[in-house]
Amino acid sequence: MTADYSEVRASYVTMIAPRPMSALPPAATPAVPDPSPLDAILERYWGYTSFRPLQREAMDAVLARRDSLVVMPTGAGKSLCFQAPALLGDGLALVVSPLISLMKDQVDTLTGNGVAAACYHSALTSEQKAEVLDGLRAGRLKLLYVSPERLVGDGAEGFLRRVAAGAAPLAFVAVDEAHCISQWGHDFRPEYRQLARLRDVFPGVSLHAFTATATARVRRDITEQLALHEPLELVGSFDRPNLTYRVLPRASLRPQLVDVLRRHDREAGIIYCTSRKDVDQLTAWLQGEGRRAVAYHAGLSDDERHRSQDAFLDEHADVVVATVAFGMGIDRSDVRFVVHAGAPQSLEHYQQESGRAGRDGLEAECVLIVSGADFLKWRTLLEKNGEWNDQRRQLLRDIERYSSGVGCRHKHLLAHFGERYAKAECGACDFCLGELESVDDPVTLARKILSCVARVGQRFGAAHVTNVLRGATSEAVTSRGHETLSTFGLLKDASVDAVRGYIDQLLGRGLLQQTGDQYPVLALTEDGVALLKDAGAVSGLSLARQRRPDPSRGPRRSKAETEGWEGVDRDLFERLRALRLDVARARGVPPYVIFHDTTLRELARTRPSSLEALRHVYGVGAKKADDLGPAVLDVIAGRA
Ligand code: ADP
Ligand code: MG
Repeated sequence: MTADYSEVRASYVTMIAPRPMSALPPAATPAVPDPSPLDAILERYWGYTSFRPLQREAMDAVLARRDSLVVMPTGAGKSLCFQAPALLGDGLALVVSPLISLMKDQVDTLTGNGVAAACYHSALTSEQKAEVLDGLRAGRLKLLYVSPERLVGDGAEGFLRRVAAGAAPLAFVAVDEAHCISQWGHDFRPEYRQLARLRDVFPGVSLHAFTATATARVRRDITEQLALHEPLELVGSFDRPNLTYRVLPRASLRPQLVDVLRRHDREAGIIYCTSRKDVDQLTAWLQGEGRRAVAYHAGLSDDERHRSQDAFLDEHADVVVATVAFGMGIDRSDVRFVVHAGAPQSLEHYQQESGRAGRDGLEAECVLIVSGADFLKWRTLLEKNGEWNDQRRQLLRDIERYSSGVGCRHKHLLAHFGERYAKAECGACDFCLGELESVDDPVTLARKILSCVARVGQRFGAAHVTNVLRGATSEAVTSRGHETLSTFGLLKDASVDAVRGYIDQLLGRGLLQQTGDQYPVLALTEDGVALLKDAGAVSGLSLARQRRPDPSRGPRRSKAETEGWEGVDRDLFERLRALRLDVARARGVPPYVIFHDTTLRELARTRPSSLEALRHVYGVGAKKADDLGPAVLDVIAGRA
């Protein structure tokens, strides 16, 4: 099962004409795009039998040495778009990558597949460096990964000369994570801005940019800054059908987390928190509960952060509890859940962070646990930093609307990024899975809540209002005589979560607002006042609550969830996973570099019994079959 990014949003494909190649150093002869060699390469080195959407187009542009900009979501398979073409012809591909960890991962994967690839960066020992330069001189390398500093910073000249003097001509340059060039992106790297200089050093060599950041502004920036010449622009669909999105009103965080974790025993996940304190506390709690959890935030030392990151990548830990500082460079492909224990500051952030789940195309879950107070917190913070402006307000509004929305989450997210969702329902979000239940008479319900907010004098927060509505005689309620209000106990049959959820939804709809410096206090908006006066004042209001799970029915599963495990011998899967871990430890690489879960599941589904049969399994190329085939067959046959 692979992910299906079948909808191509905007791809204008004009004639692919190689530009004249001038002078030094000689560029590799532009190959005429011919589909069959690429197919063969994919099969031989990666064990893949088909292209994902837009991959072939992107590869053709590389082969034709036509500048290109490829925008596809995380996990869509951008790396293959420059890796596979690099293996055709006798040239060298230079790949610019912003992080050593990213380079290392890709190079480990490539060499594991039998591809001559290397990276060159500051963390190498001098012997390692010498070896790379040797390979370069001899023309042994097909792909060389470098940081932007290598190409434009101090000492870049010497390095570039070596590239030019290598036995293999420079075929093309691929710029990965190209949004780093843009201040509008989320990981701005000044050195990226100077990459256009490569044009002077290697005239005629094509540049190919790759990113998962979709906004038009970033795309324009990339094109301009890299001085791309009539680039072929390929933009894939941003839908991630294998991700199931859920939004939960935050009632009691820990039980809510336990609920998610229970669905992911021994699986990898990330829990994003909005403060370092939350990270530390949640990590300690999870560890106390016997979970293999580590913390990651900017307040930790470099050393501690590296340790956490490595523990997660090497499967010593299952869960990372982190602030947004954790993210780029995390290529662990089997992340099965990403929880946000608090709202991020924009849907762009949310998409980026939640998108780290399910890179392997298998089912994964993204849960946003949110409270109306989160948005006030962001606002206060941004105001304090002097960053509160119309744009920020709009970004925050957008994520608030997503959180409180009652509708298909996939559709909502796509619409936000300017894409139309073609299907009527996704079958992979809380709404489409029927986990939300619309209330029958939302207007009456809304008016009960609004009226309670008015009765307590618009001076209390959501927790207090919830108590009054549910008829809870807390100390805070009785000490103020709020048990005598006419709205006391109006919603006594509703759960705390449900009432908190309704309040969040009214905030999202702009019927309530939050004010207050120290504590968020609920108040009516103009629209809220209007609805209180006149039940017909607001149209199209809907409110929803979580449906109570029906024990006789069991949880509904998304298509990806059902299909992903269909026919898989789970026990065998775990044994193969253990083998993968052993091999990874022995070789000092992360396990996902050895095999993806997709491959392990297929092995545990089809139980191949010969090397020949093994070669036909997804993700098993020639080298892997030679290298690990016997060990895998032993595990399948129960011999190991
Ligand atoms: P991106 O850079 O777009 O986030 P990657 O290049 O890391 O994505 O690819 C994500 C995963 O998809 C990798 O494991 C890759 O090997 C796999 N993949 C890429 N192309 C294909 C394909 N055509 N068939 C099967 N798997 C693929
Ligand atoms: Mg990538």
